[in-house]
Amino acid sequence: MAAGREAAFGGDWALTDAWRTWCLLRRLRTGTRAAPAALLDAQNELLKRAVAHAARHVPFYRRYWPEHGFAATGFRGLADLERIPIVDSRTMKEAARSGELLADGLRSAALTYLDSSGSSGSVTRIWKGPEEERVRRAVGLRIWLEHGFRWQDVTAQFQIRPGPHLFLQRLGVSRKTWITTAQPLAHQRAQFLAARARVVAGTPTALRAICGALRAADARPARPRVVFAAGEILDAATRRLVRETLGCEPVAIYGQTEVGYVAWQCERRQDFHINADTHLVETRGPDGPAAPGKLGRVVITDLRCRTMPFLRYDTGDLAIAAQGVCPCGRTLPTLATFEGRLSGALVLDSGAILTPRRLLDALADALPPESYRIEQKTPHAFRMVFLENVDEGRRAAALAILRELLGTATIHTASSAGWAADGTGKTHAVAGPAWPSAGNPC
Ligand SMILES: [Zn+2]
Repeated sequence: MAAGREAAFGGDWALTDAWRTWCLLRRLRTGTRAAPAALLDAQNELLKRAVAHAARHVPFYRRYWPEHGFAATGFRGLADLERIPIVDSRTMKEAARSGELLADGLRSAALTYLDSSGSSGSVTRIWKGPEEERVRRAVGLRIWLEHGFRWQDVTAQFQIRPGPHLFLQRLGVSRKTWITTAQPLAHQRAQFLAARARVVAGTPTALRAICGALRAADARPARPRVVFAAGEILDAATRRLVRETLGCEPVAIYGQTEVGYVAWQCERRQDFHINADTHLVETRGPDGPAAPGKLGRVVITDLRCRTMPFLRYDTGDLAIAAQGVCPCGRTLPTLATFEGRLSGALVLDSGAILTPRRLLDALADALPPESYRIEQKTPHAFRMVFLENVDEGRRAAALAILRELLGTATIHTASSAGWAADGTGKTHAVAGPAWPSAGNPC
């Protein structure tokens, strides 16, 4: 994710912006414990407004909705949600790239953007208006504050490219050290140790890399208050490595550049609370909403976005629907787990689906995710590629685990000197079936 046009405004504007963000943040914080009925009412109103706006002002929905039999006239909100067509990820991103998803009549000088890089190398630029940018920031800050963040805390944030330093950060409030993951690990380690950060944030890949570098140097970093992991599945191996290296159980956050922060683990670090006051999140099975405890596709409606609205957007991710209420006391609804990309799930002969998270967690005791790749070649044949430095004992242990999961399927093995970088900074340990007839398994 790369940000642009962040610091184009002067001090007065920045102070006003910070004040508005703070007011929004106060409202959002009380929302974490609002009565469920009040939350539903708010969602209902936001959804009606989002649909009315899109039908009137966004070329993509003016074309796509009638083509798919949906008329926004008389739309009643949540009761009519099922009438809105779900848009698959490719269609939505093409509309974003072509400009069709951009609302009419916007002045680009007033907008900011984030770039989303796909593993195919294509970049989707997501434009946001000032209010949407404030929502994105406030929603992120809410997660941090719920985890005890204090304004004087220094944050170390790992990212491929460094982000901006906001006005108040330059004044010493919520200071941030950007650590660029494109630089050598020794540099990252030196920067991290110097930062003495109370808050650490990065992808699981970045967190594994810095923890490995700290251990290799026998370094003793200052213990952070909290570690946030976002952008990939926080697998069991990474969770353990962070806990043992930084002395802190990491918190998983789920989000996408396209729609911002969507859900997060509370201090229990189990289910994910959904930011239901900004996003409507559905878990969809083959015939409708996934039953509690069942796997489904994650479909997101960004309730407050108007510049480039993602409505009923099939993210291409999988999740398991929650089975109950989180006992922490927050009333934001929950999802049980995020299971990774649908494109990374293995589809067995029996029709069973092995999600990326299940595979990573099963293999966690044998190998870290960057040491192997599992590919599905046919419905019955898989390939496990190991990094060259993985010894025979660990290969055998990993293969035994995989055989147990895959039953009678054939597993070929191979070795690789390393993986080609794809610009995402993420680890791609599992690749699902590549043939088109594999279809949509759930
Ligand atoms: Zn909770």
